[in-house]
Amino acid sequence: MEARTRETPPRVAIVGGGLAGLAAAARLAEVGREVVVFDKGRGPGGRATSRRADPFAFDHGAQYFTAREPGFRRAVESWLHAGVVARWRGTIVALQRGVHSPVDSGTERFVGVPRMSALAGHLARGLDLRSGVRVAALGHGPRGWHLTAEDGADLGRFEQLLVTAPPAQAAALIGRESPLHRRVEQTRMAPTHAVLLGLAEPYAVDFDGAFCSESALGWIARDSSKPGRGGREAWVLHATSEWTEENLEEDRATLIDRLTAELERATGVRLPAVLHRDVHTWRYARPLEDDVEDGVERFLVCREQHLALAGDAYCGGRVEGAYSSGLEAARALASVEP
Ligand code: FAD
Repeated sequence: MEARTRETPPRVAIVGGGLAGLAAAARLAEVGREVVVFDKGRGPGGRATSRRADPFAFDHGAQYFTAREPGFRRAVESWLHAGVVARWRGTIVALQRGVHSPVDSGTERFVGVPRMSALAGHLARGLDLRSGVRVAALGHGPRGWHLTAEDGADLGRFEQLLVTAPPAQAAALIGRESPLHRRVEQTRMAPTHAVLLGLAEPYAVDFDGAFCSESALGWIARDSSKPGRGGREAWVLHATSEWTEENLEEDRATLIDRLTAELERATGVRLPAVLHRDVHTWRYARPLEDDVEDGVERFLVCREQHLALAGDAYCGGRVEGAYSSGLEAARALASVEP
């Protein structure tokens, strides 16, 4: 890195192009920082992403999001206006032993359109996003942060660093010497198996999403009922964290068979012909509830080292929390001049 003069803006590296990283990047760019976002995925979005298997499409991570705080509601309004987000008005129920009952009809649910990944695509516009780059090592010294990729490539030097990878990955990156390591290490995440089914015909249940109880499944959704999806019948099944943990290393075919059978058992309704089936395992899906103190500590920062950590793990385990955590961490970094 060239020595910085008064004219050159401070450089900030962001590890992770999920919603936390993207929210932070935009805010830091607004205040004149030169920001580079690195993400190991093929595109931005992290867990708020989608997968296509023509003619089917699935949101296999975040299913929808809510907006509670005024600042986030304003952001959602702007995304509605831009046409990258829409309200999902599907019928959502609680399902137990084949019987379902309505849930909170007042809840507004938002989704990216035409897929969940559209929101991240929108937020990433105009940013310097380097996809397909896994940051493998961080060095810190008097000249700031030095990042190295998994393949050994030198990713450059930066005055400030924001890590938005899930806590286990963030802890490994910042290392035991970091003053933030202990706190990050304490935040554990639970895994989720997600089964994706593309059907020949509509599934004959009279709801579009269900919170399940007394089941290996925690949530099931007719993904194709979300706005702009194009109509081919697609279902997403999320196993509970407990069931996923117990069956973490199970082979893919068995997972699909068992969770598909569980869907039929839980609803009491046979599936039509399945044209596409797949499974994705989120190792770090959601923070364990015990580890989340919503609203207490929404990000972590070490001002002396110009290092911050953000993401849903520090702020409620949801899309809204991830976005807010990223914004607040960005404000903290922007408030210290390197
Ligand atoms: P992430 O989206 O995980 O972003 C972190 C990014 O860091 C990733 O893109 C990853 O590729 C990248 N990364 C990690 N390590 C490195 C590295 N070394 N180098 C480069 N890049 C790296 N939320 C809701 O509000 N409603 C829901 O219904 C909902 N359902 C969910 C269901 C499931 C199955 C899952 C998994 C999540 C769900 N969530 C839901 C949670 C929501 O998806 C997250 O809260 C949010 O997307 C987290 O954003 P983030 O930016 O904090 O983290």
